Amino acid sequence: MKPPRIVIVGGGPAGMVLAYQLVTNGVPVRVLERHPDFEREFRGELLQAPVVEALERAGLFAALLERGQALPDIERVMYVGKRRTVRVPGPREKGAVVSQPGMLALLHEQCLRHPHYRLDFGATVLDAVQEEGRVVALRTRRDGVEERVDGDLFIVCNGRNSHLRKSCGLETEQFETTADALWLRFDLSDAPETLPTSLQVHMFGKGRVVVFQPSTRHRLHVAYSEPGDLNRLRKDLPELRRRLLPTVPEALQPHVARKLDEETEWQVLRILVDRVTRWHAPGVLFLGDAAHTMSPSGGQGLNLAIKDTFVAANHLLDALREDRPLDAAVFQRIQDERQPEVDRVQAGQTRAGQMVLKPLGVLHLMFTLLGAVMALAGKKMQGAAEPAIEPRYFIA
Ligand SMILES: Cc1cc2nc3c(=O)[nH]c(=O)nc-3n(C[C@H](O)[C@H](O)[C@H](O)COP(=O)(O)OP(=O)(O)OC[C@H]3O[C@@H](n4cnc5c(N)ncnc54)[C@H](O)[C@@H]3O)c2cc1C
Repeated sequence: MKPPRIVIVGGGPAGMVLAYQLVTNGVPVRVLERHPDFEREFRGELLQAPVVEALERAGLFAALLERGQALPDIERVMYVGKRRTVRVPGPREKGAVVSQPGMLALLHEQCLRHPHYRLDFGATVLDAVQEEGRVVALRTRRDGVEERVDGDLFIVCNGRNSHLRKSCGLETEQFETTADALWLRFDLSDAPETLPTSLQVHMFGKGRVVVFQPSTRHRLHVAYSEPGDLNRLRKDLPELRRRLLPTVPEALQPHVARKLDEETEWQVLRILVDRVTRWHAPGVLFLGDAAHTMSPSGGQGLNLAIKDTFVAANHLLDALREDRPLDAAVFQRIQDERQPEVDRVQAGQTRAGQMVLKPLGVLHLMFTLLGAVMALAGKKMQGAAEPAIEPRYFIA
């Protein structure tokens, strides 16, 4: 059977990891990415162990390390307050910080080795064109020129709150969120020894949560979250300094104090938790944040998006190898396999959003008691075990 022409909307982690799996297994793919390159705004960088292992097996992680685009063995730890006396009990999760532009560029380079791969930068998908109830093309704009891109299957990976959901007739469920996040980036190449060696989450009560994440090229990412207008806070530098600096761990504090000014790179992330009830319509499948927008809580969005593509590639490529059509039955199997983890993580994120609203004293007491009970019971708190995903087509 002639392989289908697959069009992927969005060259983010979901789009590019999926493109890599399809292209290296002989399927023609065209990616449409609205940005002119992979240099992106702030995005999640902490890859969890199962995703890192897949990158290792495909030889990609070694290449990222060699290029200085990854920091291995980074653990996520959570504390109540600034002093590290109360650590939130839980499983120790070790992963790697990976620069998203670095990872996307590497996947693109690998795909470019294949003649049946094409990526159009600067191509914004405007909407879906339907004929007889099936998506048959996309309307795009590039350099001010509108174009129609035809294909046999469209896979939408264009991120949070995708506008294509509506034009494909999909319904969205939205969950309550309590606070947005202000992301700041500092260049600490003049004091690299002060960078934390883990991703540290500090909860200060009443919704204030501050994250300190080491990044590649000696950068420090700080995410400051609390209820209220964070755009206004960013513009009021004295007030931002008054609120943020006391939360910064001691070793970092003088450096952050020195570097926090009008020039500091920043972005306010509106925190959303939502999902489409059905991930597909005739001719189109949604994956990653486009199917289920995640909150940054727990650092899961990036990992879930990539795991979606492992499952999608397994089912799509199995179907193609067995000469089965890429239809609703295949798409539904992909959704059914991914839905339990997405539901569980989103429910956890919604609960965490409520929990951090409690006053600091209550959080302190809660986690001190929980830690003591668990130590007495000699148990580690385990997250619900998800069945391991074997990315069968993620190969070198
Ligand atoms: C500031 C911030 C911090 C985060 N921190 C974490 C974290 O620590 N850990 C974690 O796991 N997750 C984190 N996340 C979430 C994580 O980055 C996302 O869940 C993940 O990137 C989702 O991948 P994706 O490929 O589905 O979507 P995206 O990464 O959003 O990629 C979508 C791509 O589609 C492109 N696109 C959008 N619209 C169009 C269009 N109309 N036409 C063509 N192209 C289009 C975009 O330019 C982008 O390249 C964070 C997100 C943000 C914004």
